[in-house]
Amino acid sequence: MGALLDQTIERLYALNVGVIGTGALRHERPHKPLLLLTVLDLIDGGLATPDCIEWNAALRERFSAYFEKVKKADDRDTPENPFHYLASEGFWQVFRRTPAGPAPQETTPLVRDSGQLFARLVDGMDHVFADAANRHRLRHALVARYFPAQASVLFTAPVVREELLPYDAEAEPEAPGRSAGFRKKVAEVYDHQCAACGLRLRLPGSDIALVDAAHLIPFAVSFNDHPSNGLALCKNHHWAMDRSLIAPHPEGRWVVSRVLISHRSSGEAELAKLQDKPLLPPGDEAFRPAVNAMRWRVKRLAA
Ligand SMILES: [Zn+2]
Repeated sequence: MGALLDQTIERLYALNVGVIGTGALRHERPHKPLLLLTVLDLIDGGLATPDCIEWNAALRERFSAYFEKVKKADDRDTPENPFHYLASEGFWQVFRRTPAGPAPQETTPLVRDSGQLFARLVDGMDHVFADAANRHRLRHALVARYFPAQASVLFTAPVVREELLPYDAEAEPEAPGRSAGFRKKVAEVYDHQCAACGLRLRLPGSDIALVDAAHLIPFAVSFNDHPSNGLALCKNHHWAMDRSLIAPHPEGRWVVSRVLISHRSSGEAELAKLQDKPLLPPGDEAFRPAVNAMRWRVKRLAA
């Protein structure tokens, strides 16, 4: 089950959610992860099972309660969209109840379809969602990846039951599904290029890239796996950032620790050259590094 859970988390980290808005308002649409949080609640509460998630008022109300807590400009409270479009992820199927048995539903549901449509999880997800401990992990993974800034309101929301304790990173030091999901997403948004030196190395015909995904504020501190808390870095620059020798400045340039500038050996001189070089941006503004996270790094530069 461990491998299947990891695989599931990796898939949830890579949901095709769509991006909306421009400039500072640009962001990923929250609908698919919110629907999955809703489904976790419904299963926890005995109101759904992994093979029968009914399209009904209970589902829409829970979705809307979550939606109110995370919505941004341009987002609309439309549970019918993820209920339909989640099918494109390959683990969700929607059916209409008919006298002849379930028939695949190809269109977006309407309110009047309540009780006549249901979805089911497939492709291994059904097994993962059936287990309460797994659902706890999945919920925290969805919040860490899509809504880290709203974690406190999501976990105190009335729709979330009290047994859902704050995330305990100590309990899963490895978390391979989470790590792999974060690495892939960050590498993708930087097109597999180091945000410091621009190095891009990929094995041909494979999705193995040499670039790492570095957390700006470490996960154990932030519980934040949103790509805006990450940078794609080559091994050298990842190493240097983790040792507080280099840091991305909110003005979009690199700053280098004075330790490096004053004690130049050949290797250090190489790193010191990064001073004031541009921080390469991600391909989409929705994932630009968070200003508070960059400040966190700059503040910790070795003096
Ligand atoms: Zn580099």
